[in-house]
Amino acid sequence: MSEIVLKGVPAAPGIACGSAFILDKQDFIVPPRAILDEEVQSEIARFEEALNKTREEIRTIQKKITREISPQHAQIFDAHLLILQDQLLIDDVLKRIKKEKLSAECVLSQVLKKYAKVFASLEDEYLRERTADVNDIGRRILKNLMDESRLHDFENLTEELIIVAHDLAPSDTVSMYNKNIIAFATDIGGPTSHTAIMAKSLGVPAVVGLKDATLHISNQDYLIVDGRMGLVIAHPTEATRAIYKSEQGRIEALKDRFADIRDLPAETTDGHKVTIRANLELPEEIPSIKKSGASGIGLYRTEYFYMNRMDLPSEEEQYEAYRDVARAIRPHTVTIRSLDLGGDKFISSIQIPRDMYPFLGCRAIRFCLERPDIFKTQLRAILRASVAGNLKLMYPMISGIGEFRRANGILNEVKESLRDEKIPFDEKMPVGVMIEVPSAALTADILAKEADFFSIGTNDLIQYTLAVDRGNEKTAHLYEPSHPAVLRLIKSIIDAGHKEKIPVGLCGEMSGEPVLALILLGFHLDEFSMSSSSILQIKKLVRSVGQKDARNLANQILSLSMGEEVQEFATAKLKELAPHVFSPSEEKR
Ligand code: PEP
Ligand code: MG
Repeated sequence: MSEIVLKGVPAAPGIACGSAFILDKQDFIVPPRAILDEEVQSEIARFEEALNKTREEIRTIQKKITREISPQHAQIFDAHLLILQDQLLIDDVLKRIKKEKLSAECVLSQVLKKYAKVFASLEDEYLRERTADVNDIGRRILKNLMDESRLHDFENLTEELIIVAHDLAPSDTVSMYNKNIIAFATDIGGPTSHTAIMAKSLGVPAVVGLKDATLHISNQDYLIVDGRMGLVIAHPTEATRAIYKSEQGRIEALKDRFADIRDLPAETTDGHKVTIRANLELPEEIPSIKKSGASGIGLYRTEYFYMNRMDLPSEEEQYEAYRDVARAIRPHTVTIRSLDLGGDKFISSIQIPRDMYPFLGCRAIRFCLERPDIFKTQLRAILRASVAGNLKLMYPMISGIGEFRRANGILNEVKESLRDEKIPFDEKMPVGVMIEVPSAALTADILAKEADFFSIGTNDLIQYTLAVDRGNEKTAHLYEPSHPAVLRLIKSIIDAGHKEKIPVGLCGEMSGEPVLALILLGFHLDEFSMSSSSILQIKKLVRSVGQKDARNLANQILSLSMGEEVQEFATAKLKELAPHVFSPSEEKR
């Protein structure tokens, strides 16, 4: 097969080489699980048992339909029974279990996929429509072979895999931590889409917005994912493999190059100090955050706690989770963000259609204000955990002072009830506003009078300012953090905060990009919060330049009229001021 190069949107840096695993919810694909020689017989027995059980189920359904509707309708299931008796299919599965030493469900899923493909390509329309029967019966047998909720369980993964999917939901990625997953490649998504953020927090390369990768790539294809360049190469030639292997080696060798500054302050050469913090998606990241040189957590995204479950987390469960994070990170600060449901983040326990919460809909604080029951449970848990460490609280998607006051009104009610119950909490816990909606940015002077701090959420602020969907690959080229409109807004938010003497941080993806971080340093940003994998590089940058140089650069770029000019100018300046911050293999070619 000849080499195919697919171009997408770079989402998380690094290079990965390995087998593709197509994750498709409509499909019956099960992650490969190797078995031992002595397990072959028991796998075969499990398979035969699942076939028998499925036959019984189908017969029961047929009887019920015959009784309640008509015998003709029940005949629809004859096709299912025929597939279940197909000796070719059964032999194929048995042979492969013995030969490939893979689990019954894994072999069956691959064989069924092959069958479905053959049916789907047939000329005869009647036969082509039988694809649905193959898919349906496949699901039934798989369900009987394994717990259906574990069809995409990565727990027993024995092989390193590159996940290829049309899209990845937060609930998919949340189960992939520490699970031999080495990269992501998706058809859709932009540079700050959920997949990009999650890949960075898992520390794996990712390319999103590949448009039709799932059409070109098959399960088990050998792939190279180049997260810096936004490339996915399927069936690479020997020459391409050799180039990437050596590139991978070079990146690996440079991995710890800034380790010596880990415990040093983020201080410029002329003595200006800033704070560098980590963004936390999952509590599993705490050990790597603690090793990263971060001074605490600047954004704790709590929605992941609500995912992959059918019920809502109780106050007690949330309290314990927040308390553990607060304890692990103290004496540093943890900034907890209240639930940011909606946009690209959904939770299974609230059975409300997704289109109720698009990016411009009832998401984040808007949802919490509509559902004070859910909001209050979270606020109680956060307040109770506040005595375990140094917690700050911030609300996402605030669009103006009215919403901030309403949220604080609910917070005060919760505080009052805790006082009545004599439950301790930190009375002085700072409460801040995420500035991620242009209306909040433009009224930052008003908000700064009542907020304890600001945290600029540029992932959203950019999409709302430029009217560019952050998750859409078709508009990814228009998603420009260096657009003058965005930079002016950021500068004005920082100035408004400083006028009222409150600290201003930024927790969008741009704070981990060296060129943009240099500009932010020049704007006098106080706190940079980012994926823990970027922390040392940004600390190195801060420690290599003078605040005065950064300020001069920031003033100069404010007079430029286009994002591209800003990017070009600031990149040249960064190379001049801190050439060692970049490494040749990390730079985009
Ligand atoms: C942001 O919008 O910049 C942000 C940090 O929040 P999220 O990416 O979770 O929307
Ligand atoms: Mg946001």
